[in-house]
Amino acid sequence: MCLSACCYQGDICLGCGRQMQLPMAFCGKCMLTPKLKIVAACSYHQGLGHWVGQIKYQAQFAVIDVLVDALIERISYLISIGCLTLPQALIAVPLHKKRLQQRGFNQAWLIAKALSSRLNIPLLDDCLIRTRATEPQAGLSGKRRRKNLLNAFELVTEINLQRIALIDDVVTTGTTVNEITKLFMPTHTQVQVWCLARAEAPNCG
Ligand SMILES: [Zn+2]
Repeated sequence: MCLSACCYQGDICLGCGRQMQLPMAFCGKCMLTPKLKIVAACSYHQGLGHWVGQIKYQAQFAVIDVLVDALIERISYLISIGCLTLPQALIAVPLHKKRLQQRGFNQAWLIAKALSSRLNIPLLDDCLIRTRATEPQAGLSGKRRRKNLLNAFELVTEINLQRIALIDDVVTTGTTVNEITKLFMPTHTQVQVWCLARAEAPNCG
């Protein structure tokens, strides 16, 4: 399998993940409402989703490096066309400590660690925690996803930075990252999201 062929090609809307004809951050529809910038290496549905799933479910970490390379390429491209500014720090979407104990690792943290050392941007550990062991988001409707995550995260250290990037393995509807982003509003910290794969759900645009 040629990995790069499965990664995003061309210009992709950072709001909804749709292909665009012009090098811009957002498509016309997403420009109308403020959206988080979500940068992904690939679409979960275009051949690589299985590999991204293997990180979490099979502890297959080799794929991280390859997809982190593709993600960095994407980030560099977006910076070159003026659609993105590098963050001052990275924060991984945390697991609840109970789930971390069960699984033994947090795939988002592993990805963030790789990005941090490749880009030389500090990774902030322990500033964001998951206070509740929530149900898995998969299979829940939009409303239940939001309810499931209500007050599920807490910032335990105040972050006084202009820009941070939240790191996750897969972003689907963006409920999780949008929920976390709210915590950074009081300090006016701009949040962007970096992930390996984006699973575009219908009507989430
Ligand atoms: Zn869009």
